[in-house]
Amino acid sequence: MAKDGLPKQAEDFPAWYQEVVKRSGMAENGLAKGTMVMKPHGYAVWEHIQRALDDRFKATGHENLLFPTLIPKSLIDKEQEHLDGFSPELTIVTIGGGEVLEEPLVMRPTSETVIWPTYGKWMQSYRDLPFLYNQWCNVFRWEKRTRIFLRTSEFIWQEGHTAHATADEAKEEVARMLEVYREVAEDVLAIPVLTGKKTPAETFPGAVYSLAIEGLMRDGKALQSGTSHFLGQNFSRAYDCQFLNQDGEQEYAWGTSWGFSTRMVGGTIMAHGDDRGLRLPPAVAPVQVVVVPIYKNDEERSGVLEVAEKIKTTLAGNLIRVKVDDRDQYRPGFKFSEWELKGVPLRIEVGPKDVAADQVVIAHRVSGEKQTRSTADAIGQVAGLLADAQKAIYQDALAYREANTHEIESYESFAEGVEAESGYWVGPWCGDEVCEAKVSSETKATIRVVPLEPTDPGGACIVCGKPGTQRATWAKAY
Ligand SMILES: [Zn+2]
Repeated sequence: MAKDGLPKQAEDFPAWYQEVVKRSGMAENGLAKGTMVMKPHGYAVWEHIQRALDDRFKATGHENLLFPTLIPKSLIDKEQEHLDGFSPELTIVTIGGGEVLEEPLVMRPTSETVIWPTYGKWMQSYRDLPFLYNQWCNVFRWEKRTRIFLRTSEFIWQEGHTAHATADEAKEEVARMLEVYREVAEDVLAIPVLTGKKTPAETFPGAVYSLAIEGLMRDGKALQSGTSHFLGQNFSRAYDCQFLNQDGEQEYAWGTSWGFSTRMVGGTIMAHGDDRGLRLPPAVAPVQVVVVPIYKNDEERSGVLEVAEKIKTTLAGNLIRVKVDDRDQYRPGFKFSEWELKGVPLRIEVGPKDVAADQVVIAHRVSGEKQTRSTADAIGQVAGLLADAQKAIYQDALAYREANTHEIESYESFAEGVEAESGYWVGPWCGDEVCEAKVSSETKATIRVVPLEPTDPGGACIVCGKPGTQRATWAKAY
């Protein structure tokens, strides 16, 4: 468990990620290929993310429900673009109860195709709308190359599915949920994100347009971190979901869908971790404060443990997630490294001399600093120190993003630069898919987002030299 042997980020980021995930107890590979087991430390981070999202869904008027995992294959076949987009990733059940099924059942890759036919039965008049529903569930996407949290054949997420009487109302919903995602990414996960629109080539299959938040990881790669889609009437037409509008006419309902998944546990690891392991934002850290008692014999042990327990009781009473590491079989130095690896924001050390002086040592995971404080001061300051750590870790990530955002001078310098440095590369684009495809095939960088609102493109397309229509942000991405 010692930090010896943890690969250095700068030398081999994928190896660093794999080792940190494993040694910190976040997750491991599942027994079926491409699946993962979320272990308690990783699942606890997800639970905090889930709560942060769910509270905001409720606050914006949504209710939770749950549809079945299995979808009749014929339903998926009805929306052609959606079918084409998901076909390679489908997991299909063909046998049940020992018999070949009359109709194959698809393990949901996402639930539009089962939700919209049902919504059609629920809506008669505009008075029934909007439907503002969300579900928490696992989804299945057969992946050839998998990586824990980032891309696995089964993962947990939430999928919101709303139906509206007007296009404007649905578009407002799409923007509102993107803002919820931005807030959770930035204020809870401390990951600064770009918000924007996906290019048509990167749009969700079956959507009219897709909005996304994108975070930058510490290897300079982007991570799509949450998406919100305007479905127009595509799914309501495919599944015949009509309602009687205010003019007394039948109209197809306007739809949205939006999702945020356990991939963001991986995002949190990669946006903040360092060569010592995880650095967790206090808002999602399963343990926010660990108290490590330091002693050599039984007499010292009882003295320091008494103080440690007192600190724990007081902090827990203030709803701070605190743990006393009183394991006898490990030395303090080992415990320090282990809690650093697990990303605990604050460590309080209590030794016999500290007990005598009525003081403790506070070690900060984010800044790496140590301070000595009177025991009472330390207890009183913990909430403030956690709030400071939450801000500091966000500022660190923001500074990293700023240092790794480049203005594109020419196609040649961009192609060379993105190879050497990754990060975000920003410049004018003509909007043509041919230019987009040329960049991705030659550099592996893709357009992450274009601005939500029209902006000055700032010059000619970096690829073809025709007039620019948008300012695009390119990056290599997960
Ligand atoms: Zn162009």
